[in-house]
Amino acid sequence: MTDTQSRAGFEQDPFAAAFPETREFWAAAEQGRLVVPTCEDCGRAHWYPRAHCPLCGSARLRWTQASGRGTLHAFSPARRAEPQYTLAYVTLDEGPTLMTNIIDAPPEALRIGQPVVVRFQPAPEGRMMPFFAPA
Ligand SMILES: [Zn+2]
Repeated sequence: MTDTQSRAGFEQDPFAAAFPETREFWAAAEQGRLVVPTCEDCGRAHWYPRAHCPLCGSARLRWTQASGRGTLHAFSPARRAEPQYTLAYVTLDEGPTLMTNIIDAPPEALRIGQPVVVRFQPAPEGRMMPFFAPA
């Protein structure tokens, strides 16, 4: 995971390039930091990134560092996938709910409401992706 020389990085990642409004998110992920869009008017964080706050309509948004901690809101193992993975919704301590994958734990070991922490892993295209593991 620490071998950044062998990866293209988010600058060359086609997904990250296709959504320039997410550039800061991928740049922070490269450093192992999870950031979320936060509204300067209502003070609340939201997900996914967009031009206006979905909670109050304000356009005054900034990226703020999240704790990387949250709780497992829902999950579904993709047993027919190869390799298998567990799709999940994680609600961050800051409020927003993200769609993600749970790693480092079999689905049998998971339960709704359990605490999870972010873990970054490289996507094949180059960017670092936030996944979550039991805390
Ligand atoms: Zn707002």
